[in-house]
Amino acid sequence: MIDLSFVIPCYNEEGNVRVIYDAIHAVFDPEGIRTEIVMVNDGSKDNTRKALKELYNEHKDEALKVISFSRNFGKEAAILCGMRHTTGAHVCFIDADMQQRPEVALEMYRKLTEDEDLDCVAAYQAERKEGKLLTFFKNCFYRLINKMCDIDFVQGASDFRILKRPMVDAILSLPEYYRFSKGIFSWVGFNTFFMPYEVQERNAGSSSWNFRKLFKYAIEGIVGYTTTPLQISTVLGVIVSALAVIYMVILIIKTLVMGIDVPGYATTLSFVLLIGGIQLLMLGIIGEYLAKAYIQGKNRPVYIEKEVLEGSLKDGEFDGK
Ligand code: UDP
Ligand code: MG
Repeated sequence: MIDLSFVIPCYNEEGNVRVIYDAIHAVFDPEGIRTEIVMVNDGSKDNTRKALKELYNEHKDEALKVISFSRNFGKEAAILCGMRHTTGAHVCFIDADMQQRPEVALEMYRKLTEDEDLDCVAAYQAERKEGKLLTFFKNCFYRLINKMCDIDFVQGASDFRILKRPMVDAILSLPEYYRFSKGIFSWVGFNTFFMPYEVQERNAGSSSWNFRKLFKYAIEGIVGYTTTPLQISTVLGVIVSALAVIYMVILIIKTLVMGIDVPGYATTLSFVLLIGGIQLLMLGIIGEYLAKAYIQGKNRPVYIEKEVLEGSLKDGEFDGK
């Protein structure tokens, strides 16, 4: 039986796959914890696939699985795929770039196995090592999404976490196409302990996130977990209609008292533009939901596997490494 399965999403990580593999074994083997490593090559454009194949060929008898996607499907898809391939009693998500140390994973594993009430231990960044502007936008996002959603989004919580098997199975039972893992983790419930950790510098390569991707991710999170934005149009509609009625009453009284008044072109135009703008915004919001429902309705798979390399280890077997 495997104690702990690692799921490692890899996108352009040719210089890191071996480093993280060795680092995990160096930390967990001396503790007698039986690990399995599932590496998912998310359509890398560099030599990650080659590096993973070499690694696999060297460690064929060990619990190492390497899956390659047919193209880049994103980290969430890679995590889902990796999770489906795990067999351990616990599953740990860790990045390939060594920003998250296996030593911390060991600490998290200890905490999780010592406390029976816990189902998950998640690492969170106590201190963010990012630009001020990005931190500001992230703060806004968490404030907004927590106001609108019933479930809790913990600021700074990363995907770096260890789950017990029942929670893994619960996550695997969710059929959604848009997998915003922060939302999924809290939606399924269970008891999570948040452990502070310090993010390290990247080992090799560069981060694949940019502002545009993060913005898209944020919209996905909001659209995926709350329908509150759809209600904005109802509320705005009521407010604008009420104001219009009041304005009309004022106009009628004014006309009766002072006669017909021609000026007012500017006011009329600005109101028309304002209402037009609000309508477009609301249409956009409805469109976001419609688009997501449309894609989900196609029932396409979240990812496509091109190649699966699996060690010769059978269930229940363990070679001591
Ligand atoms: N990753 C992935 N698919 C992608 C982008 C990233 O599998 O499309 C992986 C990447 O290889 C790494 C992890 O997700 O293991 C985190 O990515 P990155 O280091 O670029 O993000 P950051 O640490 O800057 O948040
Ligand atoms: Mg990283």
